[in-house]
Amino acid sequence: VKTTGKRNYRFYDQKFYDALMASLRQESELRHAIDHDQFVLHYQPRVDISTGVTSSMEALVRWAHPLRGLVEPSEFIPIAEDTGLILPLGELIIDKVCAQLAFWARSGQELVPVSVNVSPRQFSEANMATVIRSAIERNGLEPSLIEIELTESSMLTDTDELTETIAAIRGMGVKLLVDDFGTGYSSLSQLQRLDVDVLKVDRAFTAELGKTEQGKVFFTAIVTMAHALGMRVVAEGVESEAQLRILKSLRCDEIQGYFVSRPLPPTDTQPILPKWFLP
Ligand code: C2E
Ligand code: CA
Ligand code: CA
Ligand code: CA
Repeated sequence: VKTTGKRNYRFYDQKFYDALMASLRQESELRHAIDHDQFVLHYQPRVDISTGVTSSMEALVRWAHPLRGLVEPSEFIPIAEDTGLILPLGELIIDKVCAQLAFWARSGQELVPVSVNVSPRQFSEANMATVIRSAIERNGLEPSLIEIELTESSMLTDTDELTETIAAIRGMGVKLLVDDFGTGYSSLSQLQRLDVDVLKVDRAFTAELGKTEQGKVFFTAIVTMAHALGMRVVAEGVESEAQLRILKSLRCDEIQGYFVSRPLPPTDTQPILPKWFLP
């Protein structure tokens, strides 16, 4: 009995050790990737349903790993958040977006804004307003070209600090979008007080459209509330014409999703869609 116990103990100990080593390796690999700028951003257009105009694009990060190819954010953003590496990585991403916009601006074309995903930890630990302001100024951009996406769940810790940072960002002329809306617990008064511009409804709700009545009921309620408060509503993850038609009938303002376009790697010009109409 004693021996088995020992063996079990050693077995778990080994597993713990392996897991620890794996996470340390991931952390140092990620740190190396930040130092060597191994990240690229893809851009996914967001389209106004009634006019067909591209209103913005979301910047989505990928790790251009020398051996593994393009690695999805779900594989490294959580590690970056746990280790605090999200702070330097987040700064790198904002700076990359601003540099890309400045590059596109030099080609003389009209630009649309780019929205940047920001992790809660960046909001609580980095001086986000300063980080954003300096990236905008360094690249000589109009602040209205940058939008910030903050998940609804990260607004749970509703501190004075969060309110102040958001006020500073809004004061610069940077828009605030609430990401993954419907999955967190924000209140009407919070959305109003934080002066939110856009609600991006989580794609789980879009996926319900056409399948159950629940999806329609949810969107109807959100659109009514958002419009009464002067906010716009974006449906994420729109994959079919059927979903788009329902969203149009429910007065949803904008859509984003594979049905319009996948996230695209940057080219010499900003990948703005030609006026995009209901097929
Ligand atoms: P998110 O902010 O909710 O981004 C939307 C995700 O849905 C993206 O996945 C996008 O490629 C995917 N998507 C877009 N349209 C469709 C569709 O029609 N169908 C389906 N099934 N998926 C669609 P991606 O690029 O893998 O990003 C995943 C998550 O990683 C993002 O979710 C965001 O939370 C995080 N992330 C991405 N880039 C950044 C970043 O620069 N900073 C931070 N902090 N997080 C990021
Ligand atoms: Ca997002
Ligand atoms: Ca989202
Ligand atoms: Ca999501």
